[in-house]
Amino acid sequence: MLITLLALGMTLAVVATFVLRQPQFGQPPAGEDLVRITSSPQYRAGIFQNEGGITTQMGLLRAFTLLPQVLRAQQTGVPSWTIPVITHDKQTFTDVPDSLVRATWFGHSTFLLEIDGKRLLLDPMLGPAASPVSFFGKRFNPQLPIEIEDLPQIDAVLMSHDHYDHLDYPSIVKLRDKVGHFFVPLGLGSHLRYWDIPEDKITELDWWQEVEFRDLKLVCTPSQHFSGRGLGDRASTLWSSWAIVGKERRVYFSGDSGYFPGFKEIGEKYGPFDLSLMECGQYNDLWPEVHMVPEETVQAHIDLGGDLLMPIHWGAFSLAFHSWTDPVERAIQAAEANGVRIATPRIGEPIVLGEEPPQDKWWVRQ
Ligand code: ZN
Ligand code: ZN
Repeated sequence: MLITLLALGMTLAVVATFVLRQPQFGQPPAGEDLVRITSSPQYRAGIFQNEGGITTQMGLLRAFTLLPQVLRAQQTGVPSWTIPVITHDKQTFTDVPDSLVRATWFGHSTFLLEIDGKRLLLDPMLGPAASPVSFFGKRFNPQLPIEIEDLPQIDAVLMSHDHYDHLDYPSIVKLRDKVGHFFVPLGLGSHLRYWDIPEDKITELDWWQEVEFRDLKLVCTPSQHFSGRGLGDRASTLWSSWAIVGKERRVYFSGDSGYFPGFKEIGEKYGPFDLSLMECGQYNDLWPEVHMVPEETVQAHIDLGGDLLMPIHWGAFSLAFHSWTDPVERAIQAAEANGVRIATPRIGEPIVLGEEPPQDKWWVRQ
């Protein structure tokens, strides 16, 4: 009996080791990387932590109460039809005037942002599944607005954190030779170096640190969330939002975040923002600390001093138990109640600052 258990245990350990050595799991910071990040005020007791002692661990008891929701998982969690995707070729994104500020949504939290003659990719998750395995977290419509191979050169990638629905190993590998520079929160560079991104193409920033990138100012701003890709690497790399400050226009990218006082502080320091790309999706009563409900998304946009709001983190993957249209429908209601301007583009449909925002209710099946 003991030998059988021992053999079973060893087999499991070997399988786990094999699985976790697959490249998509990445590599948490170690050695010199670890020494560097431990001096961050956000790094306490061996992990990165949110302000105010906010807990992000669900705990066994909370997880247990999730079971009924899992069992009656919504039929409406994913679209029952092929949702529209507007496609482009390289030409769309080349020879554009420097004055154009345009955000093209790739679904969920991924954008191609053109600002002051620069092309930025925000959280370039362009793969077919938001998980380490192909059968879980499948993209609603596998069609992309443009394939990575067809994209023109990208000046910089901005990452918010290392969760699979934001940092996608196959996308990074394909983007490797196309991207001038990667700006990431502390510790996340470890994954990128593991995936053969050269050291001199990666800049890691702590909260409130800013860099001048050509004539843009990029600020790594706080968020209230967590991180992790495998077993035992929870909160080993930092999470953040980003303020992108151009000559005339300012854009805020929330990454993933619960509602927290940081939005007001970011707004005071770097707002007002012409466009805020705000997390709105994958929420649940059981994890209110790390994802916002749509009413909070609208309030966070107001706190930031945002002008035009675009709800993001929906439209491509189902990672919670609400219907796939709940985020956008509730966000519209809350925006109307608060007099907030809202953009609801189709995937691939651009938002151009200074023009009327796209507002079709495209998710309603005709
Ligand atoms: Zn996340
Ligand atoms: Zn996410």
